Order: sequence, then C-alpha cells, then structure tokens
Amino acid sequence: MNLFDLPQPSVPVSGSDRQFPVRRIYCIGRNYEKHVAEMGYDVKRSKPFYFAKPADAIVLSGATVDYPPLTKDLHHEIELVVAIGKRGRNVSVDEALDYVFGYAVGIDLTRRDLQRAAKEKARPWETAKGFDQSAPISAIHRAEDIGHPSSGRIWLAVNSQIRQDAGLNELIWNVSESIAELSTLFELAPGDLLYTGTPAGVGPLNPGDEVTGGIEGIDEIRIKIS
Ligand code: MN
Repeated sequence: MNLFDLPQPSVPVSGSDRQFPVRRIYCIGRNYEKHVAEMGYDVKRSKPFYFAKPADAIVLSGATVDYPPLTKDLHHEIELVVAIGKRGRNVSVDEALDYVFGYAVGIDLTRRDLQRAAKEKARPWETAKGFDQSAPISAIHRAEDIGHPSSGRIWLAVNSQIRQDAGLNELIWNVSESIAELSTLFELAPGDLLYTGTPAGVGPLNPGDEVTGGIEGIDEIRIKIS
C-alpha cells in the first residue's frame, strides 16, 4: 500500500451507507463496581479514569483476531461504546447527550499479564491495552434511531458460555457524566469513540475461541480468536 494512500479507520453506520471515521479511541477504567472489586480495588475509593487505544486498533464484528504476541493472558472486556458526533470541551452533564452520534458494542481486549506488570512498576498501559486489533466493535447505531440506552443487558459469551452479564444501569459514571468529564481533559470531536468500561466477569481467551456479546437495544458482536 502506498504511504500516501493509507486507509482511514472507520466503522459502518447501521441503516446508512456511510462509515464513521475513527479519530481517537478513549476508554474508561473501573466503571462497574463488581469489576472494580474483582480487580482488587476498593469500590468506594475508586473513580473511573481514562486511557486510549490507537484508532487503527479497530476490528469490525465478524473478524478473526490473531492471538497477540508477548502475552499468556489475553482478556475480554465487553463494553458500551459511545460515538461522538460534535466538537466540544467542558461539556455539561445536562448537554452531554447532544454530543453523541450513536452507540456500538465493543470489546476492550487486554493483555492482562502486561497490565499487571505495568501496574506493579507504575508504567503506562499502552502495551497492555493499545496493541494491534485490540478494539473490536459492532456497527454504530445512530442515537436518532435507537435513543440513548441506559439500562439494557450487557453480556459476553465465550464458546456460548456466558462470562459477563450485567446491566448498563450498573455503570458508576453514566454516559453523560463520562462524556462531561472526558471533555474537561480533551476537546471532544466527531470521530471519537469512548469505550465506557466493562462489568465483572473478565477472563482469558485462547486461540480457537468464538467470542459473542451484545447490549440490549444496540447490537451484538462476534469475533474469533486465532
Ligand atoms: Mn475496559
């Protein structure tokens, strides 16, 4: 491929022939109490925080994901993904949903062993979170079509065995609060994606696994690990 003809990472928009161009991928850590607890943190003292993945870490639903190098503990994290459609900073909680273009179902793939090592050494998380193909995602569904889901079931299964099963109502910081807070740190812009954190039940994936997941009122996602 020509250096000057590189593709723009993008995600299909359901009910449209347009592609949502991915500008940045933000992620929230520790946004469901039972997941905070399973990771060994004090729920009361934990506030969600942000990290990022590169835009070209996007993998569309239906794809096969290569088991990544230098890990023996690849984990799945099913997440609600918010697609931003409007530029803004210091957005208020009351106005935050005006910045939402739509929603998707995502999986925040994580090299858990590298994350553990990074935490121990107080080092950054890029190698644990921002590796190639680390951001599987379904199609994006426009808010004007599906509204703003806030209570549906969010689940993930590996080889048809349910591993994660929770509700969007369990988010510690809801979508509005998460957008408002993020916009104090970075200027939001069309093309930004926000993975909003995962519920409890994260666990390992192995080559050959079929991973399925979904969020009630949005969509489902399916990937295979090879
Ligand atoms: Mn996550």
